Amino acid sequence: MITLKAFCHECRGTGVFVGVCEPKGTGVVCLICGGHGCKAVTYTPFKKRALRRGVTRVYLSGRVDRTDGISYAAFQRGRRP
Ligand SMILES: [Zn+2]
Repeated sequence: MITLKAFCHECRGTGVFVGVCEPKGTGVVCLICGGHGCKAVTYTPFKKRALRRGVTRVYLSGRVDRTDGISYAAFQRGRRP
């Protein structure tokens, strides 16, 4: 896993949040980043598609008819339903 510091969009990287409830000229410590202006983002780099055990057919999501599926082996070779 890799951890990066990411810009906090909620406070625009300032650490101070100014919303509609703050009186003019005031701000509050950003709850999202704790006032740091950034937040830690942890992710795992993608290397290759993993095997999904127990699946034999693959369909497009949200299709009602379920008639246009393909074999999982074909999906692994790069085909799409
Ligand atoms: Zn912030």
